Parts: sequence; structure tokens; C-alpha cells
Amino acid sequence: MNDFNLLKKIVEENNSFLLSTHINPDADALGSVLAMHNILQKLRKKVRIVNHSSTPYNLEFLDKDGIIEKYDERMHADIFNEANVFMLLDLNQASRIGKMEKGFRDFKGMKVCIDHHQDNENTFDYVFGGTEYTSTCEILFDFIKETKIAVIDYGIAYQLYAGIMTDTGSFRFERTSPHTHKIAAELLETGVDPTDIYDKIYNQFKFGRIKLLGEALSTIKLDSTGRIAYMIVKHDALEKNKTNEADVDGFVNYCLTIQEVLIGIFFYELKDGIKISFRSKGDIPVNKLAGEFNGGGHINASGARLDNTAIDEVIDKVITAAQRYI
Ligand code: 5GP
Ligand code: MN
Repeated sequence: MNDFNLLKKIVEENNSFLLSTHINPDADALGSVLAMHNILQKLRKKVRIVNHSSTPYNLEFLDKDGIIEKYDERMHADIFNEANVFMLLDLNQASRIGKMEKGFRDFKGMKVCIDHHQDNENTFDYVFGGTEYTSTCEILFDFIKETKIAVIDYGIAYQLYAGIMTDTGSFRFERTSPHTHKIAAELLETGVDPTDIYDKIYNQFKFGRIKLLGEALSTIKLDSTGRIAYMIVKHDALEKNKTNEADVDGFVNYCLTIQEVLIGIFFYELKDGIKISFRSKGDIPVNKLAGEFNGGGHINASGARLDNTAIDEVIDKVITAAQRYI
């Protein structure tokens, strides 16, 4: 059980907050830091959001006031001394904040995690949330309702709805519950327009992204069991199509649309390493599979990053490892 009154007390009894979320943030990551920023600002607290990654272009509309800062070692040298509380949202392993990890580890104040992933690292003073939640935004909704720390106005509702909609795969993933729909209903009652948010996030991509998707789909293969589908995007394909990492978000899901396939894997070549996305059906724990490659995530959706590794070296290893989960 979450002690949301304790979280409320932490918020009320401290004055200066630093918020951050994970590398390559999605709408739940951004919606949750922005909603928490909104709450703290209403309470007249000092608060900044500093992220490792810049905001993906299709999610910039969530931060229309330009609150989020992109971490720069020199420009942000003092932030870790200025705050009493360092709050990480939508992640539970400090390595997921990239270049800010050292600042976090050395941080002298209180470390708080609000998250819904599996296997949290034992490095926080307080952890709120849990894997039963669809999203970090759903955790924040329950926190606000239970403690009445803020009124859920249109601004907060907009942020929370974006995170809940995207992390539930538009209300279809397993953790989507009657409670999730009741929350969505309440958020819509503030005036949030579901068509508009969906359109901004999923229907405003660059032309190059669809070309890239076409190339990625043409690489798709099945393993010898027919239960694992995988695809590959190499770095030159990104450049050729004038796309970036944010544009490959969601590609992996196509693997799971194939009959009999239980695990989908997406290999994506970074400048100096690779990123792997894993998806599964039912009770196949791809977070454990990702863990074999230093990654993590949820039972049905997880990822890993391998530095200084060539893509061709790793594919067979990953597929062989994945076959043990079938
Ligand atoms: P995606 O494949 O969409 O990037 O990520 C799917 C899920 O896996 C997300 O919930 C994300 O938090 C988690 N994830 C992705 N990459 C990593 C990683 O490098 N390390 C860990 N621990 N989790 C990851
Ligand atoms: Mn999330």
C-alpha cells in the first residue's frame, strides 16, 4: 500500500525540488514530471525539471511553457546543491537518467522515486507507486485524489491523460482496469479532448518516420520456433530518412501483430552502441530477458542499451536467450 500522506508530507515540508525522468522520455515520463511540477508550483515551492534527453518533437506540446531543461554539465553544475529533494519519476534505476546519474548518486538531500516498473534499485529514501499501476501518471492521479494536495484542473488533467493513454497503449494493455477508465472519465470531464491529444502524439510524425517504418518492417524475421519476431534499424537508415531515436518508438509492437508470435524484439543501432526493445504476450517476463543484457522494464515491455557493441554481434545471442522464455 502506498502511503501517499507521507509523500504529501515530503512535499509540504521541503522547499526546493529537482525533478527528472528517463532517457528518451515518453508521454508518461513527461506528463508525470510536468504534473508534479504543476502541483509543486501551486504550493509555491522552488522546482525545476532537468532531463538527460531533449523532449521528442511530437511531445513538445506537453511542455508548451518550455519548463523542461536539458541537462548540461556546466550549466547545471549547481542544481544538485540547490534542491532538498531529488525526485525521479517513471524510472526506478538511477542509470536511466543518463548523464545525471552521478549527480543523483552524490546527492545529499532526500531521494524519492515515483514509478510503476519492476525491480527497483535500492538507492532511494522513499519509493511510491508499484507495478499494479498502468503508468506513473495514474500513480499521481491517486496521490492527488487521496491527499487532496491539488485540484485536478485542465492543465494537470491534460498531462495525466497523455501519460495514461500512451502507457496503456490507448487503453488496451493488460493493466487497464475499470479504475483506469474511471480516471480517464474524470480527466475528460475537465475538458481534455481525447481526439486532440491522440492526434498530437500519434498523427503528427515526420514523413521520414513512415519511410523508416517501411524499411524496418522489411527487415522483419521469425526465429526457428516461429514464436519470436525481430526487426533491425541501422543508423544510416535514420540519417537517410532524417529521423532520430524518438521516431522508432512503437515499431517493436508490429512484431506482436503476427500469428503465433509471443516475443517481439527490435534492434536499433545507436552512434556508439545499440538499443534493444522487447515486447511479449501473456506471462513471458521480458523484463528478465532484458535484465540479461543490463536492461529492465515491465513484464510485457522492456528494453536495454549496450554501449560499444556491434549490432551484428548481439542479435544471435539475444534470440538464443529469448528462446529460453518461450
Ligand atoms: P522501450 O522499448 O519502449 O524503450 O521501453 C520499454 C520499457 O522498458 C519501458 O518501460 C522502459 O522504461 C524500459 N526500458 C527501456 N530501456 C531500458 C533500459 O535501458 N534499462 C531499463 N532498466 N529499462 C529500460
Ligand atoms: Mn511509464
